[in-house]
Amino acid sequence: MVESHLAVIPDFPEPGVLFRDLTPVFADGPAFHALAEALTAPFAGRFDHLGGVEARGFLLAGAASALCGAGVLTVRKQGKLPRAVLTEEYDLEYGTAALEVHEGELPPGSRVLIVDDVLATGGTVGAAARLVERAGWVVAGISVAIELEDLGGRAALGDRYEVFSLLQY
Ligand code: IMP
Repeated sequence: MVESHLAVIPDFPEPGVLFRDLTPVFADGPAFHALAEALTAPFAGRFDHLGGVEARGFLLAGAASALCGAGVLTVRKQGKLPRAVLTEEYDLEYGTAALEVHEGELPPGSRVLIVDDVLATGGTVGAAARLVERAGWVVAGISVAIELEDLGGRAALGDRYEVFSLLQY
């Protein structure tokens, strides 16, 4: 259901990158619903909040929140959050960036399931996980729609975190 809606685009955003595009999944109600449900099912009963990573992780965390009732921690790109933040820099598959969360957004010890669209090198969700821990919360797991296995994200994250991916390429 989810896989049949994926688009695959060669040489985007730069030559040599094979981009997996989830927008057709978001555009299809039943496929989007199935994806949101699949991302949380393996962690049922083991998280209090969904940590959605900007931007596609927001969509996934928001949809999953409506299904399971957990609130969303917004893990934003640098410079967007208005109150005191924690910042983590990371390397992307193409470029560098930083993610931020509001300090004190969740109660201490909250169990956060980190949600994003793609696990490539692991830099993005790894930075989100470090933010969660630095803020005094617990990483309940990392759940992604797509894992690009050749890029080694799972190994880079180590065995500290439980990682679930719905589709592997
Ligand atoms: P990583 O930090 O190297 O694991 O890259 C993951 C991040 O880059 C995710 O937040 C994705 O949104 C983005 N990304 C990397 N490769 C792709 C892709 O093929 N399709 C869509 N997003 C990608």
